[in-house]
Amino acid sequence: VPARSQDKAPRQFRLAIHGGAGTIDRTQMTPEKEAAYRADLERALRTGHAILAKGGSSLDAVEATLRVLEDSPLFNAGKGAVFTHDGHNELDASIMDGATGSAGAVAGVRRVKNPISLARLVMEKSPHVLMVGAGAETFAREQGVKLVNPRYFWTELRWKQLQDAKRAEAEARAKGRTAFNAPANRETEGYKFGTVGAVALDRSGNLAAGTSTGGMTNKRFGRVGDAPIIGAGTYANNATCAVSATGHGEYFIRSVVGYDISALMAYRGLSVADAASEVVMKKLVALGGEGGVIAMDGAGNIAMPFNSTGMYRGWIDADGKVTVAIFKEP
Ligand code: ASP
Repeated sequence: VPARSQDKAPRQFRLAIHGGAGTIDRTQMTPEKEAAYRADLERALRTGHAILAKGGSSLDAVEATLRVLEDSPLFNAGKGAVFTHDGHNELDASIMDGATGSAGAVAGVRRVKNPISLARLVMEKSPHVLMVGAGAETFAREQGVKLVNPRYFWTELRWKQLQDAKRAEAEARAKGRTAFNAPANRETEGYKFGTVGAVALDRSGNLAAGTSTGGMTNKRFGRVGDAPIIGAGTYANNATCAVSATGHGEYFIRSVVGYDISALMAYRGLSVADAASEVVMKKLVALGGEGGVIAMDGAGNIAMPFNSTGMYRGWIDADGKVTVAIFKEP
């Protein structure tokens, strides 16, 4: 188990985030829409930065940053969560502490406003790592976590995307195809992903990672993706890296994406950039798994590979300089 760094000298800190990967089409992106995404990503980065700048922990920064994105209707997490096939919102989230290897996660919760905070409570206030559904919500109530009426998660855009996805599914079935999430048309292709994630390095040299999502539009009741699976959608280890993933979760679970990136660094000595690229651009591509990751090593080096057309992403340096990007080229 890697030890929590005791280093007292102020060090560099850094925070990186993603707001989901997928088919993000420039022709569908109006200047207003793009500005709104960029503004929320920057606001999230500045929230985490303020914590890290004061000497706060990477765990605190990751949680606070992701709460901002969960509360934004633009991202598929918290307020902007996508709908399941039967018209509900089922949220998944996880968080991991790179210093101690402890982790917490929740899946399939329907009434938790900020699932990332519940994941953190599972890590710190329960003997468990992953709690699901009604049990997770009972635990939330016991911990005084804010529960909301499920209607809180209803947004017109996500509802429309569900109807489009269902239509596409019916058409695909009529043609003898089985893909439950076949994209409907160019306008709605972007509906598939939109998860949020953060990785951070604090002044003490500790890494943390977190991911929060509504999953995939039109997913079946009870389906759980990679976001709450430690080692798949989220992983952190001070000795290697912190990772948060976004993409077609089934492939990310089967590829154990987060842990594989860490293992390539630990066992083969790869840099974070080479390890992340090997997994996202080679292994996932070979399997047909669309998406990307953000990964950060213990020195604050960041890698953000994605094999989709776009990934909402950004980072903030210790001096407060923000970079936000959406498409292949920033
Ligand atoms: N990875 C998420 C899932 O499969 C979806 C996403 O990243 O948008 O649930």
